[in-house]
Amino acid sequence: MMAYIQTDTTSVPDARGYYGEFGGRFVPETLIPALDELTAAYHEAMNDPAFQQRLADLQATYTGRPTPITYAKRLSEHLGGAQIYLKREDLAHTGAHKINNALGQALLAQRMGKQRVVAETGAGQHGVASATASALLGLDCHVYMGTVDIARQQPNVFRMKLLGAEVIPVESGSKTLKDAINEAIRDWVTNVRETFYLLGSALGPHPYPMMVRDFQSVIGVEARRQIVELAGRLPDACIACVGGGSNAIGLFHAFRDDERVDLIGVEAGGHGIDGGEHAARFADPDIGRPGVLHGTRSFVMQDTDGQIVNTHSVSAGLDYASVGPEHAYLRAQERAYYTYATDEEALAAFQTLCRLEGIIPALESSHAVAEVIKRAPHMPKDSIILVNLSGRGDKDLDTVMRELKLNG
Ligand SMILES: *Cc1c(COP(=O)(O)O)cnc(C)c1O
Repeated sequence: MMAYIQTDTTSVPDARGYYGEFGGRFVPETLIPALDELTAAYHEAMNDPAFQQRLADLQATYTGRPTPITYAKRLSEHLGGAQIYLKREDLAHTGAHKINNALGQALLAQRMGKQRVVAETGAGQHGVASATASALLGLDCHVYMGTVDIARQQPNVFRMKLLGAEVIPVESGSKTLKDAINEAIRDWVTNVRETFYLLGSALGPHPYPMMVRDFQSVIGVEARRQIVELAGRLPDACIACVGGGSNAIGLFHAFRDDERVDLIGVEAGGHGIDGGEHAARFADPDIGRPGVLHGTRSFVMQDTDGQIVNTHSVSAGLDYASVGPEHAYLRAQERAYYTYATDEEALAAFQTLCRLEGIIPALESSHAVAEVIKRAPHMPKDSIILVNLSGRGDKDLDTVMRELKLNG
């Protein structure tokens, strides 16, 4: 059998975890041995056919992979240009791509003999995925979550508890994702011997950005094969939303060497770039600059003193001040291109996809759809866009109800 996860397809990161000038390990000294142990265990697991088979079996029989791609006929006709195909991560168990990574890392924790798992969550999606994988494998799961997020994401808090996880409220800082990550790292430092840190996006110190990319690369590997089967050739453009960057890098990875395929990441433009109320790290050179956050060097939204600034997005999953280091690298290499969609554009795209395709997308994914809506009409009718529908919108119904009422 061919390995389920291919780890040797690119030159990045280097042995020290660098993607050009980005990435690396900016952590307390006590974590270095743990990161070395994790890196070694990861490479060992990837070279073990039994581990690969176990992961492949679970992705097929539990997650529901491969997820299909859907030709969006009415959306394509409506826009009058490119033919649009949707990669349906919304159909994966728990409703988003996050389970791909959570399952991979939970299997690794089990293999390393670590019974205790800690994770961070913002909107709760990674917390739910971690609690799910932990329940499946019988691991003891603890999820750090800011109290502001706990208040606004009650259904996901309840889901995690149902799944047997402990949700630990975080009262520090802005009481959101950034602070939850700080606390999860602190827990890991304290309990490092028996604890596995299950990180939710292509972020953090090496080997996390690489490991998360590899576990998510199944998205692109499947989609590349499926689009050739369904449309007869590779797409002209791949489009995905970028929070920490895991669903985007998971899609992009398989197309990296296909120079003809444009790779386009869509950040959260919030209320627009001018007022600074957004999470478009690449779009606003006044505040989005290279820096270090949560153990890795990448683009970080910061003031002139290097303090992390508050971000805003209607979609909690994109509302983060930094971005995975490999995206900063792909942008510097001019291999991938990054743009943004505002809250308003994402909400409009959300409704368009509902009405034209019968699919309620996550607000995160709606940012990618918003870019499709801008771009497709200017492309020839025989061109192809592949867009990653990273998750389903059930979790966002309250937000959308509130926002649409505000907007009349
Ligand atoms: C968490 C999440 C995202 C953003 O995370 P990435 O690591 O950038 O993929 C996007 N879409 C959905 C549905 C999510 O739950």
